[in-house]
Amino acid sequence: MFCRYCGQELPDDSVFCSKCGKKVQHEGVEAPAEVKAEPAKPATPPEPKVEHCRLELVEIDSPWSLFGSTRNRFQAVLDDGTVIYESDKFKVSGFSYDGPEEVSKKYRDLVEKAVLTLAVNGWKKKPGFRRRWFELDFERKIKDRDDD
Ligand SMILES: [Zn+2]
Repeated sequence: MFCRYCGQELPDDSVFCSKCGKKVQHEGVEAPAEVKAEPAKPATPPEPKVEHCRLELVEIDSPWSLFGSTRNRFQAVLDDGTVIYESDKFKVSGFSYDGPEEVSKKYRDLVEKAVLTLAVNGWKKKPGFRRRWFELDFERKIKDRDDD
């Protein structure tokens, strides 16, 4: 066959002209339609199914002396630092040496209220305490967003 652009003689099975580089095809034979590769959809990374927050005891101000009281509150914080819940403030003294269980007994009402408030919003308390003298972990399922 001959290139229909430049006339170069080419082997019959040529796809491209060896002289001019254009795409050639057999006369009278429809070149197979180029199969357009479906653009590969980037695999959407699986969205995290749960999000986390922690309920922790924070000190709002420090006492003048070792024997003074600090004002504290419980607050729930997302992983990114966003505070999503704050309890009432309360005064404590000699508090820092209490273990988590003592804290939660002493301030059971506040802790319960926090846990309940979080539960209403879908947060489920994970078992156990973590790391510090008072810290509870929560997680909740991330709702599918159907608003697109
Ligand atoms: Zn050619």
